[in-house]
Amino acid sequence: MLKDRRALVTGSTSGIGLAIARALAAEGAEVILNGLGKPDAIAALCAELGSRYNGANLMDPAAIAAMMADIGPVDILVNNAGMQHVAPVEDFPAEKWDAIIALNLSAAFHTTQAAVPGMKAKGWGRIINTASAHSQVASPFKSAYVAAKHGLAGLTKTIALELATHGITANCISPGYVWTPLVENQIPDTMAARGITRDEVMNDILLAKQPTKQFILPEDVAAMAVFLCSEPARGITGSNYAIDGGWTAE
Ligand code: NAD
Repeated sequence: MLKDRRALVTGSTSGIGLAIARALAAEGAEVILNGLGKPDAIAALCAELGSRYNGANLMDPAAIAAMMADIGPVDILVNNAGMQHVAPVEDFPAEKWDAIIALNLSAAFHTTQAAVPGMKAKGWGRIINTASAHSQVASPFKSAYVAAKHGLAGLTKTIALELATHGITANCISPGYVWTPLVENQIPDTMAARGITRDEVMNDILLAKQPTKQFILPEDVAAMAVFLCSEPARGITGSNYAIDGGWTAE
């Protein structure tokens, strides 16, 4: 379905981004990988997917500009790279705030700005932003993440309107809790911020949010990304798709 389409998936060395990269490659897209990781593991992924890799640090606008120039025009842009930090607002390190806003929000602006002219020239494009349930609702101790994800949802709606007559769609996919390193790594800080055990974080904080009591699978998020790249999805733009086990229905 996506033969002759070139896709950049940021943060695709792990978790949700890797699942999206695999799913787009399975549909025939040329996928460019980005993210942090060990060179051996990245080389193995490139071999598996027939992909190129660009290791730009997305917190650095100049590195993003160099990456976009290096890879050339993209038909599909998946802004997925992200990070989390959990702390009460009065203790939240300012450098973590800056890093989360840079990676989870500003990077999507910079990649979009660079990708849009090529998409306009072709009259076709798909911009998919991995937002979060936290683009719609908040949780305590996640000030930067919630602010960035709400901002990403706003950016997505704005560019959807700007690009609506150019054959380019822009949408968010907003997962609830997906079992990836990003979630696993926040467990110790959540234990500390709330003074509770690992089991209590899992059951009373994470899965308590999801009426299904199940983590979302990365592959399920990837399936939505593939659908948004399809022709029947041409009229879907400015939307924010929850895949959150019912979290934001409450
Ligand atoms: P992950 O930690 O498995 O993957 C994050 C990816 O971002 C990795 O490839 C990592 O190398 C990359 N990355 C980190 N810092 C980077 C940098 N400076 N420059 C370039 N790449 C960088 O996490 P994940 O859970 O797969 O998260 C992917 C996206 O999904 C994030 O935007 C996250 O906020 C969002 N999300 C995750 C969940 C969840 O429960 N896991 C829920 C909702 C939304």
